[in-house]
Amino acid sequence: MDNLYDVIIIGGGPSGLTSGIYTSRARLKSLLIESLEIPGQAVIADNIENYPGFPEGINGFALVEKFKKQAKTFGLDFATGTVEKINTVKQNDISFWQIKTEDKTFNSLSIIVATGASHTKLNVPGEEKFTGKGVSYCATCDGALFRDKDIVLVGGGDAAVEEALFLTKFCRKITLIHRRDSLRATKILQERILSNKKMEFIWDSRVIEIMGEQKVKSVKVKNIKTNEEKMVTCEGVFIFIGQSPNTGFLKGIVELDETGYIVADENMKSSREGIFACGDCRRKLLPQIVTACGDGATAAVSARKCIEKLKGTEYK
Ligand SMILES: Cc1cc2nc3c(=O)[nH]c(=O)nc-3n(C[C@H](O)[C@H](O)[C@H](O)COP(=O)(O)OP(=O)(O)OC[C@H]3O[C@@H](n4cnc5c(N)ncnc54)[C@H](O)[C@@H]3O)c2cc1C
Repeated sequence: MDNLYDVIIIGGGPSGLTSGIYTSRARLKSLLIESLEIPGQAVIADNIENYPGFPEGINGFALVEKFKKQAKTFGLDFATGTVEKINTVKQNDISFWQIKTEDKTFNSLSIIVATGASHTKLNVPGEEKFTGKGVSYCATCDGALFRDKDIVLVGGGDAAVEEALFLTKFCRKITLIHRRDSLRATKILQERILSNKKMEFIWDSRVIEIMGEQKVKSVKVKNIKTNEEKMVTCEGVFIFIGQSPNTGFLKGIVELDETGYIVADENMKSSREGIFACGDCRRKLLPQIVTACGDGATAAVSARKCIEKLKGTEYK
């Protein structure tokens, strides 16, 4: 079959692109499919300062562009589309995977899933209505729209604090609302945010409603210890309360944990022969760029071994 790939990588973030560098250098016929609808997390990170080799830090989009350029030099093919379904097919005694996007079908002997994770929603009244009208999940994309304005930021982990630090470049005042009484973020980030004069903090509290007319005007906040409610005036609400994996199309095909993350072993093998997983879509301790790249390289080598076994060309 002419159009049969050895490996198709789903996802164009750090894990998928690293897989692509390794599979194309191994001269496997490789294609990477990237969604234009589901944004990768690395490309929205403003300043990555813990990825080795960039002591001054590097913008996430710029870093991913470097990965892409490197993958292209080794001949990785690229396609755009959101993968919606995968299934197995047998033709002329060859079993392979069919990978379907909204309008195309691709064939491959193996798959590397590198689809990352997407932001979690608050699921409160007003959130959907005001998304794009004051509610945002991406400081890099929307921060500049809130120059000299007062905003609210929800969350207390690394991503929330990094994004809050970025937003202090634009906003007049940022009120960080967190459901605990302290931040969960890495200590160095905590030190920076707690000493920033543009920041105010509301602890032990949840946003229970986002209010406004055409655009956001305020949020209603409830203290979870005292049940006291109050209004905070703001023109923007940035939400960073966690993420859930982009693995819906794999339900019933590979083993997922109770929250939808792919269960894969240390060699990135999923429960299904020929399907490998890497990066933030995989159940793991540390979802970061450096581990996504390590996963991606390992998944590529596992896929290569799988292909060599299928084709009877493995070293014995
Ligand atoms: C605000 C923020 C700041 C961060 N800061 C840092 C930091 O400083 N340092 C650090 O190490 N990490 C940081 N992270 C975490 C880091 O971005 C992730 O760990 C990393 O991006 C994971 O890489 P990945 O390749 O698994 O997924 P992603 O980078 O999320 O890429 C996923 C890819 O899959 C594609 N995709 C998804 N679903 C489909 C589908 N169905 N079909 C086709 N394509 C699909 C997406 O379009 C995207 O190309 C940050 C994250 C956020 C949100």
